Amino acid sequence: MRQHKLALCKAHYLEWIPEQTERFIKKYEMFTHYEKVLVAVSGGKDSLALWDILVRLGYQADGLYIGLGIDGGFGYSSESHRLTQKFADERGLKLHVLDVEKEYGQPIPVLADITHRGKGRPCSVCGLTKRHVMNRIARDLGYAVLATGHNLDDEAAVLFSNTLNWAGDLLLRQGPVLPESPGLARKVKPLCRFYEREMTAYTLLRGIEYIYEECPYAVGSKTTYYKELLNQLETERPGTKLAFYTKFLEARKRGLFVEQEETRPSLTPCPNCGQPTSAPGLCSFCRLMGRVALASPDTTK
Ligand code: SF4
Repeated sequence: MRQHKLALCKAHYLEWIPEQTERFIKKYEMFTHYEKVLVAVSGGKDSLALWDILVRLGYQADGLYIGLGIDGGFGYSSESHRLTQKFADERGLKLHVLDVEKEYGQPIPVLADITHRGKGRPCSVCGLTKRHVMNRIARDLGYAVLATGHNLDDEAAVLFSNTLNWAGDLLLRQGPVLPESPGLARKVKPLCRFYEREMTAYTLLRGIEYIYEECPYAVGSKTTYYKELLNQLETERPGTKLAFYTKFLEARKRGLFVEQEETRPSLTPCPNCGQPTSAPGLCSFCRLMGRVALASPDTTK
């Protein structure tokens, strides 16, 4: 690990990763051993590694898998579900599963087509649905906190995008912890300071089987392009990504971005699902579902 000027053997590496994770959990005050954690697992290396680490550290961590119904010619969703279920079964862990098609009538790509959102890439519908489902399940089942497997490469790419656009509102909210508010579970990213390849090494050394293929809709995305650019910088100057992210967090803590009282959106419960929304009336997800029902009354619930 050139960025840390550190080289470890397998045994020490497998101790170092959980130790560092525990350090980040405490440093950013993510959660305690007394709180129930819901880990959003996709079947990919990062989320399975996160679940594995939290269980090794003795946290009360259950999993949530959301079946998106994405095929991509190789059964992306069915294979990622199989691997997630296998991981949970082998370790005797509790996994909650929600299948979008069973719950909402159609898989994600069809929901995006019906509502004409996304121009061939269903990511906005997918993100909206995942946020709604994760918060609903965390809230309904009494989890104090929702943990996702975002790594440093993910966070640096989002930070790069937000900075290029000077998206002040998004920069204000980007970080290892998004605190809870009425109706919204706390969200945390315990792996946000690990490089992607560090997580790959961890899953391989732990013998965790995960889905190697990315979601087919991630190929050619803007985020993937930003990751490639940052990788070029990292190759020339090891540690660039880590410094970019951690120095941003330090600068924000010192007050680089200050939320204006008048621009802070006031949240009210959606009259249909009860989740907080800044929109007048129904939340974005319920409006989306309303459009789906109008567009295809025969095929949706
Ligand atoms: Fe969803 Fe795939 Fe887009 Fe990620 S890349 S938001 S999983 S459709």
